[in-house]
Parts: sequence; C-alpha cells; structure tokens
Amino acid sequence: MTADSEPALVREARRLLEAEAAAGFDDSSTPGGLSRWVAGQGRNVGSLTRLSQYSRLRPRTRQDLANKVLSDLGSNKVSPSVGRDAAAPVTVLPGVGATAEKRLAALSIQTVSDLLHHRPRRYIDHSSVVPIAEAEPGREVTVIGDVVEIRARPAKSGRVRVIEAAIADETGQILAVWFNQVYLAKTLRGRRNVAFAGRVESAAYDRQLTSPEYELDVHRMVHAGRLVPVYPLTRGLSQRQLRRWMALAVDAYATAVPETLGAAQRRAHGLPDIATAIRNLHFPVDSAAKEAAARRFAFAELLVYQLAILRRRRTWRESQPGRPVRIHRDALAAFGGQLPFTLTEGQRVAVAEVLNDLRRDRPMSRLLQGDVGSGKTVVAAGALHAIVGDGWQGAIMAPTEVLAEQHAATLRELLTPLGVRVELVTGSVPAGEKRRIWRDVEHGRVHVVVGTQAIIQRSARFARLNLAVVDEQHRFGVQQRGEIRSKGYNPHLLAMSATPIPRTLALTVYGDLDVSVLRELPKGRRPVKTSFVPNHRRGDAYAFIRREVTAGHQAFIVFPIIEESESLNARAATDEHKRLTRGTFADLADDVGLLHGRMSAASKERVMRAFRDGQIKILVSTAVIEVGIDVPNASIILIEGAERFGLAQLHQLRGRVGRGGQDSHCLLMSETADPRENARLRTLQTVNDGFALAERDLELRGPGNVIGTRQSGALGFRFASVTDLPTIQSARVDAEAVTRADPELTRPEHAGLAAAVARLLQRNEWN
Ligand code: ADP
Ligand code: MG
Repeated sequence: MTADSEPALVREARRLLEAEAAAGFDDSSTPGGLSRWVAGQGRNVGSLTRLSQYSRLRPRTRQDLANKVLSDLGSNKVSPSVGRDAAAPVTVLPGVGATAEKRLAALSIQTVSDLLHHRPRRYIDHSSVVPIAEAEPGREVTVIGDVVEIRARPAKSGRVRVIEAAIADETGQILAVWFNQVYLAKTLRGRRNVAFAGRVESAAYDRQLTSPEYELDVHRMVHAGRLVPVYPLTRGLSQRQLRRWMALAVDAYATAVPETLGAAQRRAHGLPDIATAIRNLHFPVDSAAKEAAARRFAFAELLVYQLAILRRRRTWRESQPGRPVRIHRDALAAFGGQLPFTLTEGQRVAVAEVLNDLRRDRPMSRLLQGDVGSGKTVVAAGALHAIVGDGWQGAIMAPTEVLAEQHAATLRELLTPLGVRVELVTGSVPAGEKRRIWRDVEHGRVHVVVGTQAIIQRSARFARLNLAVVDEQHRFGVQQRGEIRSKGYNPHLLAMSATPIPRTLALTVYGDLDVSVLRELPKGRRPVKTSFVPNHRRGDAYAFIRREVTAGHQAFIVFPIIEESESLNARAATDEHKRLTRGTFADLADDVGLLHGRMSAASKERVMRAFRDGQIKILVSTAVIEVGIDVPNASIILIEGAERFGLAQLHQLRGRVGRGGQDSHCLLMSETADPRENARLRTLQTVNDGFALAERDLELRGPGNVIGTRQSGALGFRFASVTDLPTIQSARVDAEAVTRADPELTRPEHAGLAAAVARLLQRNEWN
C-alpha cells in the first residue's frame, strides 16, 4: 500500500501514532487500542498489519514498531514527548553544551521550542539538481561539480573581497561568487563533487551563482532524498551541527510544543497541526509540505500578534480613562498667528485630527507619518501648545540627544514667545541643572520637557502630564509607552515616524494606532537632485564632494548593509573611512568623521554633534544616519551599494540633505550591471514621494522590503510578512472572534494561545 492509494487511512494511522508518541506509547490513542483499530480496518491495510501486535507490546518496543511503520509509510519518526517540555533550555539535547548554548543564544535561541522555530533560510533541493549546462538564469538550482579554480580578489571599488570559483561538471562550467568570505577559498580549493545551491543569475560573460550554499558531502545530501534545510548561522556554528541538533529536537520534541490553533480553525484555513508543521519546516517531505508549515507559522504569529494588540487596546482604552483637553480657540489662533510660515494642507488636517482626539476622554493613540522634512514637528508643537493652554504638561522624546536638542531649539522658537516654558533634559545637561528642572517639572512650572528615553527612565514626576510625543517611533517600540503608563500617567500619545508605510499596512502593523499622514512637503522646498553614478565615475563623485566641501558645505557618505551583521557593516564603514582619509581625502583627513552602529551611544552623539556643528565636513557612516540629524548645511550625500537599499529607504537617506536653501545632491553608486536594477534606482530621479516609492518597493521587491528589517524585526515575526495583507486580515478576523468568545483566553482550548500572547506581551517592546 502506498500513501497515494489510501491517503485517508494512512493519515489517520499517522495521527494515531503521533498521539501515541505524545502520550508515551500507552495505547490510549483510540478506544480499545491500536490493535483493535487495525483489525477494524479490514484486510487490505498493507504495512499497517504490523500494528496488530501493538497493544501487546511494551512502550519501548511500541515506539520502535511505530517508527518502522511510519518509515514504511514514508513518514517521519515519532518519539515520546510525554513529560518533555519544549520550553526546556537547549542544553537538554544531547551534544548541546554550554558553548553551543552561548552560540545559539546569539541567534535568539534559548529553549528547544526556540530552536524548533528557527526558520531555515532556504532548502537544498535534491529534486532540482541539474547539469551545469542546464542551469538557466532566474532558476533556483543545485549543481554538483568540481571546483576547478578559486581565487579571492578585491572588488572594483576595492572595499569588498570577492571570492570567485569556477565549478565544472561534464556538461559545462559556471561561476560561483561570494563576498567577504575569504576562508571559502581554502575550504573549497580543489574539492570535487561539491553541491552548490542558489539562484542562477546572468552576469557579464557567464552565468553566475551568487553566494550559493554549498554541501561538501554530496552523497549525504543526495541520499537524504529530501529538502535539506539551510539555517541562518552565527560564528562558531556549522550547518551540519545545527541540522543534527535540529533532527534530535524534532524527533523528541515536535509533539511537545503546545498547539495554538484549534482543530476547526486549522481545517478552515487548511493549515497543519503544530507537530506536523515543525517536522515539515525542518525536514519537509516535499516543498508543498514546507510551504504549508510556513503558512501555519505565519498565520499563528499574526493571530497571536493581533490578539495581543486587541488586548492592549482594550486595557489602554478601558483600564484608565484619558483626561480630555479643552481646546481654547484664541490659543490656537495665537499659535497659527506667530508661525513663520503657513501650514501645509496636510499639517492643517493632522493638527485638526490630533485636537479632536485630545478633546476625548479616551487617550489618543495616533501615529503621524510623513516624509523626512514634511514638518511633523510643527504638528507636535501645535498639540503641545493646545494642552499647555489648558493647563497640562507635555513631553517629547527623541531617539538621540542630538535630535532632542534639535527639537528643543525648534519648540522654543515656536512656543517660548507664547509663554510656554520648554526644557531640555539629556545626559549632557549638568546634573545640578537637571535637578532644578525636574523640581520645576514636578511643580508644574515647566510646560514641555524634551529629551531622550531618559525622560521616562528616571524617577521623573510630572505634575500634570497629559501628552507624550514620541519621535521616530519605530526606534522606540511600544515599551516606552508602557513605561509612561506604569508611572501612573495615562497621557494622550502622538507617535511620529518618517518610515513611509501604505496606510492599510500601518493600520495592521500598528493595529491600535490611528494614523495621520503628511503627504506633501512644504512649498518652495527644492527636491534633492539625484543622480546615478556608474562605478567607473567614482572619481568624479569624490571630486563633486570635494567641491561642495570647499564651498563650505558638508557631505554624507553612506555605506550599504552588506551583511545582516552589524559588526561586519561597522567594519566595512571603518575600512572605508581609513581608505578615504589615507587616499582621496588625505588632505582633509581631520574633517572626515565616522559613524556606525557599533560605536557607544556617547561616541555616536559626539560625532553627530561635531557634524552638526560643522567640525566634521564629511561623515562616513552606515545607514544609522537614517534617523539622524537635521544639518541644513549638508548639501550632498553619496550612497554606496545603492542596489542594496529599498527605494523608500534611499529616499529617507537623501532626505538628510536639502534642508538648507542651497541646491543639494544625492549620488547613487551601484555595483550591479543589471539593467532592471539600475532602472529601479533611476525611479528616484523622478519620483519624490516616499509613499509612492514604498508602493513601488512593494511591487518591485516584494513583501518584506517595504518597511525596514529593523522595523519588521521589532515586531518579532519570523514567518509572517507585514505586507501579507490577506493573512493579516484573516488573522485579524479570527482574533476578533476568539476575543469575543473568550476575552481573557481562559478556556482550556485557548491555553496555548494564552501562553503565546502572554509571552509576546512580556517581550520588552510591548507593554
Ligand atoms: P520632519 O517631518 O522631518 O520632522 P521637520 O518638522 O523637522 O520635519 O521640518 C522640516 C523643516 O521644514 C523645518 O525647518 C521646519 O521649520 C520647516 N517647515 C515645517 N512646516 C513648514 C511649512 N508649512 N512651510 C515651510 N516650512 C516648514
Ligand atoms: Mg523629525
């Protein structure tokens, strides 16, 4: 009998055997025992006949029998999970010791369950092994061949090491290329019969596999006869090790992971149960099985996420009422009257929306989205002025000291003439002065406090805090909101973000926030002139920067994200800084600064301040300046490896210049020769709307690139995509149904969900 001829019976047998495993092979999976069940199926049960012995055997022997039968059925093994706890630390797995534990922790894997949810980056597909001659561009393939030549060379631009290998089989030859993994030359030199898996691209003269996975032990791969998982790794951890541990974990713990989806729910969405999903995530029988597994995890993540959002919104709205603000019309007029410019239409609408929220006895939770330079600060100032006019206090928090200083200056300009006292409290303000300020805050003599997170971390007490403004909200997460509330305030909240996200998406990602959008820039702003610079004109780009600097302006040189690792990015930027200060800009060496994510917060602040104050003329940095500083004197930004950024992200980066009156420029350097890629980058020359570009990203690069990885990372999704609207919506519908039926998730069938929601709410981004 094969799985195809009797799928229902086999499926049922498999389900029963898994239930047996879960219960420790105590023959409780079906009334009367498994032997009776087999007898009841008639004669033609094929290899299931062997199970007629089952009830008579001892549990240990039952397990062996179950696995023999399963293997005949072409299924994965099962083992008892009774008494096993998937929340146990990874060290319960044989072979995983303290060192391995530490390394796994770097991948955020602490428990066996974390390990089981570690998502393979890809799979090496035995079924897609092709002769090299047939490796067509655009396809994911595995080729098996000999490494006939391998060498490392600097890239044309000289900042990256490229490793190139020629791979040959009897049908032909193909190029494999890696970046910055110099050790590969040693690992692969002279090797024969190596499997390489990746996407075939057409390069200038040849077809090419870019950064393919490789497997030296072809024999093992081919004869494994299945999709072999390839995991994200960390230093000191090999694929082989991780696969071995994963196999152990899957065997012993797949059935011990609590189920979060009900049977009816799984049926309705066509999703597998948790144990099956875990098995098929790591060692899938075929690619449909692995996709079903991924869909299940994505759905479950979104369901838990939506449940958490619904729960939070309820507590946020119901547990503590907000305090309504009376809006005084003359105060409003006074604010508008002394602005040095007229508000844009978008700003007017946003201010109106905010004031409407403030009038209610339910605290506002509003997200104000708008391109860099769209004038969000003025909207915040209007709101702050309105609440101060009614006798309340406000606070505004920025992710860095430099940004806080900038806000303080802006708000003082706008609000001091109206009698509003604005104070700045950051780490750099002398302690004595800070104490005085806080005393005045406590007595209500300060109206608006501007600062970094320190505002809420210290034991500050406000007399009448009723509006908290959070700038660059994606850098904050929800944690700080929770912290404010935990101090006993329940203020209105205005979050501001320059990350353009289409509106529908924002509603689902920030499910508990209302959204206002500033779509246009203030009039008279000249767009940043964007040009695309081919690699051979790099010298011209540097000459351009030199001209701008000599004319008294300042420049950014932004280094791309090469790897998912912050330390590699930092190193790349550091090398670039060295190269420039010793070469091209040697004469300006003292004026060239460096900024990257690995520097201490204090050094970062120091560098940003020096750039703001004009002591640094050229700032070499990683993309950390994305949420950066407003330096009107900066007139040019050069972005390296532009092909590695999304359009919206490039747009945000170029928004760092063009804030003064002068003409400003964005130079995009790209290392690819791919005409489609270059066409994508050229859209920046004509399109100047962050939202339009975000939508373009969605079209061109697919989901996942629309909001930065940092932001989607902050949501903690490993499977779900924040752009997968259909799944988000169906999870939302289910979450609402579950919440209606069982608001506190106390029913036994919701135990798994309740635990997952609680875990999410405990994570520090939440509160
Ligand atoms: P962002 O939205 O990036 O935070 P800002 O609030 O820093 O933007 O505003 C950018 C600049 O535009 C500031 O110098 C601000 O004074 C100016 N600005 C804001 N609104 C207007 C307006 N309606 N007309 C002219 N200039 C404006
Ligand atoms: Mg801003």
